[in-house]
Amino acid sequence: MISVVIPAYNEEENIAEAAEAVSSVLSTCGEDFEIIFVDDGSRDLTWEKILSVSERPGSKIRGLRFSRNFGKEAAIRAGLDSSAGDAVAVIDCDLQHPPAKLSEMIEKWRQGADVVEGKKAFRGSEAKSYGFLAKVFNSMMSRATGFDMSGASDFMLLSRRAVEAVRLYGEDGSFFRALAQFVGFKAEAVEYEVSARERGRGKWTFKKLLVYAVKNIASFTDAPLYLSLFAGILSCLSAAVLLVLKIFGIPLGSFGGAAITLIFLAGLILISLGVIGFYLSRIYGEVKSRPKYIISCDTREGRQKSV
Ligand code: UDP
Ligand code: MG
Repeated sequence: MISVVIPAYNEEENIAEAAEAVSSVLSTCGEDFEIIFVDDGSRDLTWEKILSVSERPGSKIRGLRFSRNFGKEAAIRAGLDSSAGDAVAVIDCDLQHPPAKLSEMIEKWRQGADVVEGKKAFRGSEAKSYGFLAKVFNSMMSRATGFDMSGASDFMLLSRRAVEAVRLYGEDGSFFRALAQFVGFKAEAVEYEVSARERGRGKWTFKKLLVYAVKNIASFTDAPLYLSLFAGILSCLSAAVLLVLKIFGIPLGSFGGAAITLIFLAGLILISLGVIGFYLSRIYGEVKSRPKYIISCDTREGRQKSV
């Protein structure tokens, strides 16, 4: 059986079409399937639309509803946790990931791949600034994880054992598209062109993206922590240079040299404290080990059932 997980946040205009498009591709792939919509605390009619597609006779659609917005990563994780398929695919609700590619992904999985990632060949008509930032982020992620993350997306298909491996990573800031590679099973890629979002608006704000980028980079590398070390070495060296200059009697001005050194050192110390503080807050987040998401309704448990 194939499971397809579709995270949805304020996607009322897209549910029916996504359900139809994904079902029609899966019904030709010669395997049983289930489609799991995860409503990530939408404020519009997303949940009602999910109920209406799941209540059709013979429907293979299941809906999970979060008690509030927990974010896309949590929605993907909930879908993986609830899936029963021998392979599980994740696809966006706005059809920017072409459902037709699912059959190609399933074919690669049948040939033995554990992870089939959708690689963006063409980034669609997204804004130039966004494309540039995405590039910077992807290259930092590639360095941090040691995998080529350029063109990476959450459009993926994982074998059951890859899903179970990803689920072992219980950390708070888990990053699905990197973890799927990080578990180390055989990976293949399928290229796709990002189509334009037909209805509704993108759900990311600049602030949300920035936090997302910094968090994900930090969960795969601790290189910024070493900044403090380098900052320390740098300040010791500059102090040593000043000392040497003084010993050789070179005038540093009455206050100039000292003031510059002080300001420079204060800057380095503040940067170091900031970096340490950031990782400390990540540790604090993990130590609390809060649940990644809370499900308030599951169509499989009956409409009224709340968890
Ligand atoms: N999404 C979500 N929770 C959020 C934000 C987005 O589940 O807090 C879903 C959204 O409904 C869509 C997918 O994640 O199915 C990608 O979102 P979007 O199209 O806004 O992002 P982009 O295409 O720019 O990556
Ligand atoms: Mg989109």
